[in-house]
Amino acid sequence: MSTDTDTEARRQGRIVVVGASLAGLRAAETLRDQGFTGSLTMIGDEPYEPYDRPPLSKQALLGRARPEDTALPRRRDVDAAWRLGVAAEGLDRDARQVRLANGDTVSYDRLLIATGTRARPWIHPEEAALDGVFVLRTRDDSACLHRKLTSGVSRVLVIGAGFTGSEVASACRELGLEVTVAERGPAPLVGALGGVIGAAADRLQRSKGVDLRCGVSVTALEGDYGGRLRRAHLSDGTAIDAEVAVISLGAVRNTEWLAGSGVAAGPRGVACDAGCRVFDVNGIVTDDIYAAGDVARSPHPLFDYQFLSLEHWGNAVEQAEIAAHNMICAGTKRIPHLWVPMFWSSQFGINIKSVGVPPLGDQLVVTQGSLTEERFVAVYGYRGRVIAAATFDGAKWLGFYQEQIAAGAPFPPEYRTVDRRTETLQPVDPDFPDPHLPTHGPTVTLSGHSPSERRVQFVPSRA
Ligand SMILES: Cc1cc2nc3c(=O)[nH]c(=O)nc-3n(C[C@H](O)[C@H](O)[C@H](O)COP(=O)(O)OP(=O)(O)OC[C@H]3O[C@@H](n4cnc5c(N)ncnc54)[C@H](O)[C@@H]3O)c2cc1C
Repeated sequence: MSTDTDTEARRQGRIVVVGASLAGLRAAETLRDQGFTGSLTMIGDEPYEPYDRPPLSKQALLGRARPEDTALPRRRDVDAAWRLGVAAEGLDRDARQVRLANGDTVSYDRLLIATGTRARPWIHPEEAALDGVFVLRTRDDSACLHRKLTSGVSRVLVIGAGFTGSEVASACRELGLEVTVAERGPAPLVGALGGVIGAAADRLQRSKGVDLRCGVSVTALEGDYGGRLRRAHLSDGTAIDAEVAVISLGAVRNTEWLAGSGVAAGPRGVACDAGCRVFDVNGIVTDDIYAAGDVARSPHPLFDYQFLSLEHWGNAVEQAEIAAHNMICAGTKRIPHLWVPMFWSSQFGINIKSVGVPPLGDQLVVTQGSLTEERFVAVYGYRGRVIAAATFDGAKWLGFYQEQIAAGAPFPPEYRTVDRRTETLQPVDPDFPDPHLPTHGPTVTLSGHSPSERRVQFVPSRA
């Protein structure tokens, strides 16, 4: 079959999307935009139509946007059958069927896996069940937390100072609440941006009145007789009285429903090639199953061909569009997903952005502004080339650094930059924690070269 005939055939048939959120919706829109005329089924375990998550830890906690008003803008009608409020529980690749929690099965010709991540729960389930203990991933989580924060509580404990935890702490301070942040690492944002930038985040949080406790873990949450949280115990022997605890320990990828299906899915995500086609457990690429968004991990030539797992809004959009395109194209018409990672966060009045993969950096230099002034551009190098940049209130420069990363520009930068202070001209160690230690910090992770999990069963060929 010629590529054109094959592409024409792929514009028909049955496409099923599991995960009806940002990546799922944008993929569905792209499928219709690019001429897919077959049947489209959207399966989502949440009861809501796709909504936006970034406001849930920012405007929604402050009451400036209602969580129920965060529905994602629709680019077009997708003419789909929506199966909302029911989870996919299994995948039968031979029968090409998705099994739902209500016992139904949905048949597909091509499948998109876009099941994203969920909040990592507190380690002790009975403590997690205390009234006053929250996680933050869904619009219901955000609505409940906002109600609690505005109900007259006096002290909030945030466990984990990654991006989400830091944004929650920032919202608490804006609401006038006392907040303690307990972080196992040496500084906030350390897993994502390293200890040098983490130290600037540390100063920022303290200057805004956060009671920041780094280098400590919360060992236990204690409730009263009514089952309400009243105290947290820390590894340094201290205790903190708090009525609210927000567990911000990073995300877990939603891959359990794929167990036993033979696709390369595990705790690190669903492995796919740069065209978003999912690998099976033996490392053979499938041609009918695709992955996009937070749940996907794919190799990237800019980063040593290592598999990249991203928890970035922009990546979910772009990868979904490419997956959709490739689902209905054949051969040479397919395109690779080679996005340069880009992430933003707003906290304590500062707009923080990063481009590239900071945790890969072995050196760092501040090219503009100053760490002590909380307004700077920091550039990360890896084996002599620019690999990432992070800005505090300096986002306008990121496009430039994105080009530098894509071009493999030399590090340290050889050009003159504006507004450079003398204090940090020399490259320094960015001071990332040992990558082998578990950390909840990074929203972009290099997860090795293997497409399949180490624990997979070796299946020899049927000779
Ligand atoms: C509070 C918060 C703040 C954020 N802020 C930023 C930010 O400032 N900047 C930024 O770049 N990114 C931010 N992000 C990350 C961004 O929202 C994600 O990258 C994006 O939502 C990923 O989209 P996705 O569709 O891949 O996954 P998700 O949005 O996680 O959607 C996956 C969907 O699949 C559903 N699902 C899971 N399992 C099943 C199943 N078995 N069957 C059916 N459905 C299933 C899930 O319930 C969910 O609805 C933030 C995320 C959160 C939670």
